[in-house]
Amino acid sequence: MLFAAEQLAPTLDSARRVLKKYYGYDSFRPMQEDIIGHILGGQDTVVLMPTGGGKSICFQVPAVVQEGVCVVVSPLIALMKDQVEALKANGISAAYINSSVGQSEQNNIAADCLNGYLKLLYVSPEKLLSEGFMTFLKRMRISMFAIDEAHCISSWGHDFRPEYTQLRVLREQFPQVPIIALTATADRLTQRDIQQQLRLNEPRVFLSSFDRPNLNLIVRPGQDRVGGILEFLERHQGEAGIIYCLSRKQCETLTQKIQAKGIKAGYYHAGMTPNQRGAVQEAFLKDDLQVIVATIAFGMGIDKSNVRWVIHYNLPKNIEGYYQEIGRAGRDGAPATAVLFYSFGDVMSLRDMLTKENPNLTQLNLTKLERMQQFAEAASCRRKILLNYFGETLATDCGNCDICRNPPTTFDGTELAQKALSAVVRGRERLSVNLLIDVLRGMRNQAVLSQGLDQIKTYGAGRDLPYLDWYSYIHQMLNDGLVYIAYEEGYALKITDLGREVLQGQRPVPMKKFQPAEKAEKVPKGRKAAAATKAAPASREAQLFEALRTLRKRIADEQGVPPYVIFTDSTLQEMAAERPVNRTAMLAISGVGMKKFETYGEAFIREVLAHGGNPAAQAELDEDELPLSLDPDDFSATPRPARKREAKPTREATGTEVNGSMEATFQLHRMGLSVEAIAERRDLALSTVQTHLTNCYAKGLDLRIEEFLKPQELAEIQTAQAQLGGSPMLRDLFDHLREKYDYFKLRLALMYFKKLRGE
Ligand code: ADP
Ligand code: ZN
Repeated sequence: MLFAAEQLAPTLDSARRVLKKYYGYDSFRPMQEDIIGHILGGQDTVVLMPTGGGKSICFQVPAVVQEGVCVVVSPLIALMKDQVEALKANGISAAYINSSVGQSEQNNIAADCLNGYLKLLYVSPEKLLSEGFMTFLKRMRISMFAIDEAHCISSWGHDFRPEYTQLRVLREQFPQVPIIALTATADRLTQRDIQQQLRLNEPRVFLSSFDRPNLNLIVRPGQDRVGGILEFLERHQGEAGIIYCLSRKQCETLTQKIQAKGIKAGYYHAGMTPNQRGAVQEAFLKDDLQVIVATIAFGMGIDKSNVRWVIHYNLPKNIEGYYQEIGRAGRDGAPATAVLFYSFGDVMSLRDMLTKENPNLTQLNLTKLERMQQFAEAASCRRKILLNYFGETLATDCGNCDICRNPPTTFDGTELAQKALSAVVRGRERLSVNLLIDVLRGMRNQAVLSQGLDQIKTYGAGRDLPYLDWYSYIHQMLNDGLVYIAYEEGYALKITDLGREVLQGQRPVPMKKFQPAEKAEKVPKGRKAAAATKAAPASREAQLFEALRTLRKRIADEQGVPPYVIFTDSTLQEMAAERPVNRTAMLAISGVGMKKFETYGEAFIREVLAHGGNPAAQAELDEDELPLSLDPDDFSATPRPARKREAKPTREATGTEVNGSMEATFQLHRMGLSVEAIAERRDLALSTVQTHLTNCYAKGLDLRIEEFLKPQELAEIQTAQAQLGGSPMLRDLFDHLREKYDYFKLRLALMYFKKLRGE
């Protein structure tokens, strides 16, 4: 029995062993470790973590190490099914009970609960509260209750479910059993509601960072969305993604256009029968459909970890919703893209909709929409704005949003602003944004002519600039407070006092140069290169990755589970890079636990061997299966035959700008590849890759520093630095530490300390 050995006193150590054995992961993420420690102490706990942050492990691992059954309340049938399948694939016994499960099946599950075989039981809130279920629960030993998507309990949240409010009976009925509430919504009000309504007993609240550094954030103007999307799909061939639209009709027509390009796409909205929706969702999970075009009804409870991009065809109503939706991309931690199409027209229709929707909440909703709009129109790092919304601050610009990638240049826009302001005033402050642009550009349309606007002095004063440029500049003026929109007067633009100062020449107006879509959108060179390795017949690694994916899909279809339940994309990436051909090497791949090794290990090793295997690993195989770099100290000394390219001179520029090549290195690093793997994949010298990484780190990009330096190593270097005093030369540090650390590590450590000090 797999679990017998784990029924020891539950400690963090046993939790770590479970993590390695069942999940194949080497370490907890920082917050997970704290949370699990707390849960093992038998305390109530609230966990606030973004989608993809790793919430499930927080209760699943304690469930395995503790005696009894962990009862998980989860609102969505699809989600339950997925999680239970994933648990089973890892060798953990779990089951779910909801309306779709028949009586005899329920009896079997009940027996497994009572005899202590089952570690996790997923139930819907309806089921939990149904007659007789409490009595059933009382017969078994319950280790804890985990309430997933706990924000559903709050009417303040954006996803209120009345049945959740009944969950307070759990505390009444089971006063001794700890409750863990988990959600991806960080809102303070919701958070307090969760605690009160579940009657939690002085819970510890764990609020993890909401940053998702692997998401590339892009906003582009709403003109020619369809063209933009088709172009995007061309660049992201074979990558799974979701497009969110506001209306059902849009979903359907857009799907047709995508299908016409030979891409496997399906739509999903509330107007379809549950069966139709289920079939589409299933096909997407199984990688049979590449693209889903959906209204917001889709996605909650989608655990698919290899969604590589999310596109918003329309502006979302608020940042919470937006962040949750884009969070469905890149849950496996590998790079992913979020594109938002923004048009002022969307703002207007949303305003209308929100004003009618719920009179009590109109003001709140409109304020939230305004914040969303500010995000879309921003000219500074978008991630900073997002995180700021959730109460977090980012010390440096993120380097992974459109603004950071293509920083807008500034110019003196005073004259432009004066032209526009003059037209606003001469149009008697009755012009909407679009009409103002028409006037400035000297258009002869009905709206202009019928109001005699072709007679005013500034008519045609800005005909040298295209529509989109004016659109951008007027929005900057709105953001700078030179004009405002009178929503109640047909969205007419009004001039402010500040605007009058500008008009009178008392105040300059710096503006950000408008970047046409193609420019802002251009995939940085490095990324293109990385993407190309995937598509082109290019490297052996890319070929192996494709072969492993095909194998995964075949096994998944045979077993009737989604491919990512077998291995995630990032696990396959690592396999393709490391080419493990023996047990030790395979188990060292992140995401390969014992059970998965037993079930799939052989098939995947065979595939690797069919592609030549890893000569270095094979050499080790002869030496009695030496562990493959299991010692994290051992980066530089990983036993690999010396390669020619080591001697190759560094041909890359090593300035401090993050150029395309560095970018590509950085992306691979974020995907989890080691320095060696990156060097091999990109055919660069190790030292070049190291230089890239240090430069990226210096430029404020976030490295997985823990891959290179363990806490005690950092401590040792810090002590040495203190002993030498001030800011020692690297050379001195190197000597002082008796050459224990190479320059790469020392340089990283010093930068790390600097960042810690906020410099
Ligand atoms: P959430 O429920 O918060 O959205 P998940 O629990 O689905 O997130 O985790 C997201 C992804 O991260 C999953 O693929 C999961 O296996 C992976 N993951 C979670 N914890 C770890 C860890 N400690 N090490 C490596 N991967 C992890
Ligand atoms: Zn940024």
